[in-house]
Amino acid sequence: MAAVEHGFKAEVQQLLNLMIHSVYSDREVFLRELVSNAADALDKARFLGLTDKDLVPAVGESEAIRITVDGDAETITIDDDGIGMTRDEIVENLGTIAHSGTKAFLEQQTAQAEEGGAPKLIGQFGLGFYSAFMVAHEVEVVSRSAQPDAQPVRWTSKGEGTYTLEEGEREHRGTSITLHLREDCADFGEVEKLKNVVRKHSNFLPWPIEVDGDQANSGKALWVEPPSQVTDDEANAFYKSVAVDWQDPARRIHVSVDSPLQYSALLFVPQVRPFDLFHPEAARGPRLYARRVLIEEHAKALLPEWLRFVRGVVDSEDIALNVSREMVQKTAVVRKISEALTKRILKDLGKWSRQAEPEPVPEEGGDDSDEAPVEAPPSYADFWRNFGVLLKEGYYHARAAWGDELLPLLRFNALSHDDETGLMSLSDYKAAMPEEQDTIWFLTAESRSSALASPHLEAFRKRGWDVLLLTDPVDEWLVSALDAFDEVPLKSVSRGELDLEDESEEAAEDKADMESFTPWVKELLGDHVADVRESSRLTDSAVVLVDADDGMSANMERLLRESQQAIPGIGSKRILELNPRHPLIRNLAEMRDKGHEETAAQIARMLYDDALLLEGTVTEPAAMGKRLQDLLTRASEAALG
Ligand code: ADP
Repeated sequence: MAAVEHGFKAEVQQLLNLMIHSVYSDREVFLRELVSNAADALDKARFLGLTDKDLVPAVGESEAIRITVDGDAETITIDDDGIGMTRDEIVENLGTIAHSGTKAFLEQQTAQAEEGGAPKLIGQFGLGFYSAFMVAHEVEVVSRSAQPDAQPVRWTSKGEGTYTLEEGEREHRGTSITLHLREDCADFGEVEKLKNVVRKHSNFLPWPIEVDGDQANSGKALWVEPPSQVTDDEANAFYKSVAVDWQDPARRIHVSVDSPLQYSALLFVPQVRPFDLFHPEAARGPRLYARRVLIEEHAKALLPEWLRFVRGVVDSEDIALNVSREMVQKTAVVRKISEALTKRILKDLGKWSRQAEPEPVPEEGGDDSDEAPVEAPPSYADFWRNFGVLLKEGYYHARAAWGDELLPLLRFNALSHDDETGLMSLSDYKAAMPEEQDTIWFLTAESRSSALASPHLEAFRKRGWDVLLLTDPVDEWLVSALDAFDEVPLKSVSRGELDLEDESEEAAEDKADMESFTPWVKELLGDHVADVRESSRLTDSAVVLVDADDGMSANMERLLRESQQAIPGIGSKRILELNPRHPLIRNLAEMRDKGHEETAAQIARMLYDDALLLEGTVTEPAAMGKRLQDLLTRASEAALG
């Protein structure tokens, strides 16, 4: 086969340009990436070898990942006896961006650059093979697939638009990657430096990594060690390598179970929300090993979707080694392990949620102390801010199975509580309820500030009753699934009829005579509203729109509209409530009695517009603007007499 030159796909070149201009401190992660690829290739070969006896053999007894340095040539080579690549696989894998994480990284960098922000540090992402070009001006790959009839292939590139493919030479299966080091990266040709980088990023890969013949990593499968013997440092380093995170985890859950099923799991909750948590294509699920053989890099079936923030490793003796990856999802063993892990994780989150918030570290007077500031351990409130929305999602989807465990984990904003004062749980709310209150009240809205401006809260403020303020989109779904907590019903302050008026108010004198006024307004608004009625929830505002008992809430309608799922013309009609004590309503009723019916009607229509405006659901702004102008014209005429 003659050497053939190929062009890279455009996105590859874009990625390569980023790599070439990376900052020096990021560059060492190239080794992590290449060594991980080698380990994956070994995992795959071991896995296939379980059933396929015809594979091309490895070089010898040891299946180590070998890193060697050639000082004269200024190269380093990473060599593995893994699954290797055929010619077609090389074209597919090293000429395009197949890897979704790399794609997501590129999108992020581009988006960030467009917004004028600084690009994220490269080292925080899994970048894959192309990261070799951060340190090399030329890369040479020789690979032989383990498939019996495959020919060795040689791939070379300077990272400048093209690569060359030709026949290669290799006896045994696997891949070697030779990097011709850039001048400014010559120190990656030092054995000690390489050993350090291996220890830093790849210490816990379960394959020996040899640098010039010496094993540099611990190679220990940390997760099968007894939990009490694993130190924080070891566990944190392990987390960083599994989760490709640069920060310590917020929490670790290490379990080792012998019966009825045998499994160990080393799981972590990250400190910060991963950038792709809501990316539909993001890989999720812990790594699944069966007796230390990697079965799946991301085993979705191991945890429910709503626990997708949990990272780590699960290893079980009870999973058949030759099970296909597709079948893993369906086995009863995996289902049972998943259930047991879910329970463990929720129990641990429960424990965390009951721990008091750490006291803020008091600031020392002078700044002459050279001690590093003590960092407060991550709190449950921090966790909630990052991942709470997923637990709400969990409650919605899995309340039949996990509702009892999830409810105490939920945290809320309320009239009385905000991010400053700390969030509240449902039991906090219940404990603070005055005796005469028999309902947990909530309001769903777009933001805390729009919630606070809502007329629906007036009567509650007056009575001193707390209201949960729910501003996550997912809250609408949460409350649709949550009718009661501990036998106390949950209700929306904006739905249905409220009876919050006390008797002294009923008797109060300066109240409009609503008997004929209310039906008149209803007639006036016709089809726009389901009903018009007298309100007992208002003190300061003249009018408010209320969700009908069985209708969709205004907030839900807004969400559907924003996600373009609303069907135009189909929406539930709302109920307009009038405050009979408000001077404007009193005046309108009087104007109508005294023969100013036309002006009163104009104002009443404007009031309805205003109610829409207040809750942010104006759908006909042009018609509304016109009505406002008509009214103002009339008002100006009246002023001039
Ligand atoms: P990722 O490993 O995240 O999929 P990479 O860019 O690192 O992305 O690699 C792309 C693909 O190239 C891998 O998925 C794998 O199929 C193949 N590959 C890379 N290195 C090796 C190797 N040492 N042995 C076999 N295949 C490899």
